Amino acid sequence: MESYIAELNDAQRAPVLQKDGAMIVIAGAGSGKTRVLTYRIAYLMSQGVDAFNILSLTFTNKAAREMKTRIAKIVGNSEAKNLWMGTFHSIFAKILRFEADKLGYPSNFTIYDTQDSQSVIRSIIKDMRLDKDVYKYKQVYSRISSYKNSLITVKAYFQNPELKEADAMAKKPRLGEIYQEYVERCFKAGAMDFDDLLLKTNELLNRFPEVLQKYQNRFRYILVDEYQDTNHSQYLIVKALSDKFQNICVVGDDAQSIYAFRGANINNILNFQKDYENVQMYRLEQNYRSTKNIVNAANSIIEKNKTKLEKVVWTANDEGPKIVVNRLLTDGEEGRFVAGSIFENKMQNQLNNGDFAILYRTNAQSRAIEDALRKKEIPYRIYGGLSFYQRKEIKDVLAYLRLLINPKDEEALKRVINYPARGIGQTTMDKLSIAGNQYGKSIFEIIENIDHLDLKITKSTRTKLDNFVNMIKSFTILAENADAFTVADTVTKKTGLVQELKKDGTPEGIARIENIEELLNGIKDFVEGQKELADANGSLAEFLEDVALATDMDKDTGDDDRVALMTIHLAKGLEFPYVYIVGLEEDLFPSGMSMNTRSELEEERRLFYVALTRAEKQAYLTYTQSRYRWGKLIDAEPSRFIEEVDEQYVDYMIPQDDYKYKPLIDTDIFGDEVDKSKLRQTKPKKGTPPPAHKPSESQLRKLRKLKPASPEPEKARNEIKLEVGNVVEHMRFGKGKVLAISGVGQDKKAEIDFENGGIKNLLLRFAKLKFI
Ligand code: ATP
Ligand code: MG
Repeated sequence: MESYIAELNDAQRAPVLQKDGAMIVIAGAGSGKTRVLTYRIAYLMSQGVDAFNILSLTFTNKAAREMKTRIAKIVGNSEAKNLWMGTFHSIFAKILRFEADKLGYPSNFTIYDTQDSQSVIRSIIKDMRLDKDVYKYKQVYSRISSYKNSLITVKAYFQNPELKEADAMAKKPRLGEIYQEYVERCFKAGAMDFDDLLLKTNELLNRFPEVLQKYQNRFRYILVDEYQDTNHSQYLIVKALSDKFQNICVVGDDAQSIYAFRGANINNILNFQKDYENVQMYRLEQNYRSTKNIVNAANSIIEKNKTKLEKVVWTANDEGPKIVVNRLLTDGEEGRFVAGSIFENKMQNQLNNGDFAILYRTNAQSRAIEDALRKKEIPYRIYGGLSFYQRKEIKDVLAYLRLLINPKDEEALKRVINYPARGIGQTTMDKLSIAGNQYGKSIFEIIENIDHLDLKITKSTRTKLDNFVNMIKSFTILAENADAFTVADTVTKKTGLVQELKKDGTPEGIARIENIEELLNGIKDFVEGQKELADANGSLAEFLEDVALATDMDKDTGDDDRVALMTIHLAKGLEFPYVYIVGLEEDLFPSGMSMNTRSELEEERRLFYVALTRAEKQAYLTYTQSRYRWGKLIDAEPSRFIEEVDEQYVDYMIPQDDYKYKPLIDTDIFGDEVDKSKLRQTKPKKGTPPPAHKPSESQLRKLRKLKPASPEPEKARNEIKLEVGNVVEHMRFGKGKVLAISGVGQDKKAEIDFENGGIKNLLLRFAKLKFI
């Protein structure tokens, strides 16, 4: 038998070796579900299954890449290359491009990201003159999104009076009309939003039996990771594709279902046995990831949920240290504690930054943590939140690129038609928009035909519009033969984008130019990488698809060593030796918006379970006594989840009573009013030290241990040594000579003349320089 099979335990081996049929693996965190999928694919290939006939769906593209790398090691790179692996969105975007014409879309359709979609909805609400406080565009967007994920098309919406009634009850009687208009505008712009990638795939497979057959025959073996978080739309796609051969293997953990708020349907996992014939059910019980303390603590939490499948999770790993709980006064202190603790752990245990993750419930919590990490000079990377591709200057460049690939792309056009300023004002745009609606054409087409239309647009404006359209067309022609980098490089120069930022001259302006350079570098890398692939050539269209579907998790090349910061939702499936879960406060985690029903609360608890089970060696839980929320300093209560962790697995850093969760209600169990003044006492006043507690001897020992006895953090080399005249090396700009140094502390800057980059002004705190 192949040697890699020996790297599985008996329970894992069974689903790997069952070649055909439908099977489901249900198992707790860290028990090797993802490993089973990976090895199963390798095994199938060793049994003569063609890589082209295997489809594997993962939660992130990064996960897909990691699996592919592992498989390549077993079966060889050239074979592994042909596997179809990726997220639902990336795989089906690819298929939709092949088949786009059947649905009336251009094969170069644009993929609208959430921001684009929301912007379209905002303008519809404005054009329909609706009250924007009633029709909040984000709410409207998520409503439409949930319709799409439930396969409720516009037509289906209007056929079902109950839906209209429900929206009317929610004070949005015209939601259907917005939905309809939104769909029309996207279609006219040749654009699909994220949900369309699934909805249109369903439409494709339903309406065209020959297409369905083609892909059924192609994907004879289908594997799905994180099956518990598939939504209805994804479920139907998998069901349709696997219907003929029924060779389907799904793995999941109901206790880690955390996307119900986005339509994930836990019933998909519960009903799997009914959906296919002769379903084999496998269970894995041994956790290989975490220490006994972590596994047991996680079990003690999830036990509190009523809705769950009974499961056993145990581990043969070491007991490990207990879970540390600490209370801090403010989020600033919380950040400092985490940064200090990471620093300590690194020193004491010779660890890398990449061994640490900091997880939070909401993106907004990252700021205070970031500040503290920066002060300690600990490099970190934020996943999610405002990613690189969402920065303004990057979106501007991307908009030009999108537009030249798909001139109908309305969101892209609006973004750049007058940026940099070309004297094309809002009134002109309004006229063009109205004409577009009237003739059912895109704005770009209207401009192309402007001389034949009576639009009351002056001659000089028409010339400006003409110039713009001609510029875009010249890029389109260039893109027909040139690779993505050449096109992007030309676009940033010819459009005047970079010149515009240079005029700006502020540090932000300079940072923006550097970001654009970074984008160009990224495109260059991408092109090089694509050229190695069999079925790609590094075109701009390929690049845009990659960007549209990339989460920044996917961009993690793992080549530099940083602490990972992310929301718990994003951390699903990942593992880190040390995990800090911060902000364990009532109203924040569990989220105040998810405490209304038991099922919402249970989802929050599963989220906590996911967070804790990411840790291999040690977990830390922190909460603060007060926190700024919505611009106000509020008293914070410790999360009920802290108390739910069986205390034998926990080490409290301050007296345990303080961690007791106090329900946020006005009366206690006897019906008496809770003395709120007590709560208020905890509210810190400026400059007041935290209330004194007398720590026990063991806590004191622990605290003492935490006090650094170790050397000072490694000072940024740049900061201490760099002098005018030094010769340094920069990863990107090559060798350079320091011309001047200015500013102090955090703002210290150096002006350096680089061989490859010319003169740059770099913030030393960020600049990665090497002395030579
Ligand atoms: P999650 O529910 O968090 O997605 P999972 O069930 O997918 O977890 P994996 O990520 O596949 O679990 O495995 C967890 C860790 O245990 C990984 O580091 C994996 O390499 C390791 N592992 C799994 N099975 C074995 C085994 N039989 N022997 C040694 N290590 C294993
Ligand atoms: Mg997994």
